[in-house]
Amino acid sequence: MISKRNLIFIGAPGAGKGTFSALLTREYPLAHISTGDILRGEIKRDTELGRQAAGLMKEGKLVPDQVVAGMVRNRLTEKDCEYGFILDGFPRTIGQAELLEEALKSLARKLDAVVYFKVDDDIILQRLTARISCKNCGEIYNKLFLPPKQDGVCDKCGGELFQRPDDSLETATERLKVFYANTQPLIDYYAAKGLLLTITELEMNAALAQLKAGLA
Ligand code: AMP
Repeated sequence: MISKRNLIFIGAPGAGKGTFSALLTREYPLAHISTGDILRGEIKRDTELGRQAAGLMKEGKLVPDQVVAGMVRNRLTEKDCEYGFILDGFPRTIGQAELLEEALKSLARKLDAVVYFKVDDDIILQRLTARISCKNCGEIYNKLFLPPKQDGVCDKCGGELFQRPDDSLETATERLKVFYANTQPLIDYYAAKGLLLTITELEMNAALAQLKAGLA
């Protein structure tokens, strides 16, 4: 068995990266590193970085490569990354992929696989604009596909549910555009390195089993 514990998840926003991450980290001690979550945390704490990123995020634009790559490099040195990690939403540009390569080299780590979540645009937009999450614990719901038991209330902790400001139709459309312009080229980049595993909506269960086999 070849173990594959150092993973990148690539896909348009709403493609299922976060859901898959949650399913895997429930069973394996992988660190889930979402640059979107880290940035939202910075905004919540009103740090200098958060203030810089807030405007860009609100418009669905990318935060500069050096900023996010620095954040990820720091995060990768933490103890919970030892077993393995999922990079969710990073890298999003070739520049970030190159910075990641340098960081991993300096930390004597390597990538094992890059999972590309291939989902149709209309499904993505439907999912994003119906996505709601808990203000308190971050649990994600979908008004259409995965509604909470009680309207506006988190099943898990009773917290208040809200829509992320960048999940509005206008910003979600912009984020999809940004994905195709900046992140799509990464698919060829990692395919050329022999690391790419593409999964579609129909193959999600088989892909999950395959990933789990690599983590054992
Ligand atoms: P996400 O939660 O991954 O959809 O990210 C939300 C927003 O955070 C994105 O629309 C970007 O503005 C910003 N962001 C997250 N990750 C990155 C990244 N790797 N590079 C640049 N910006 C990012």
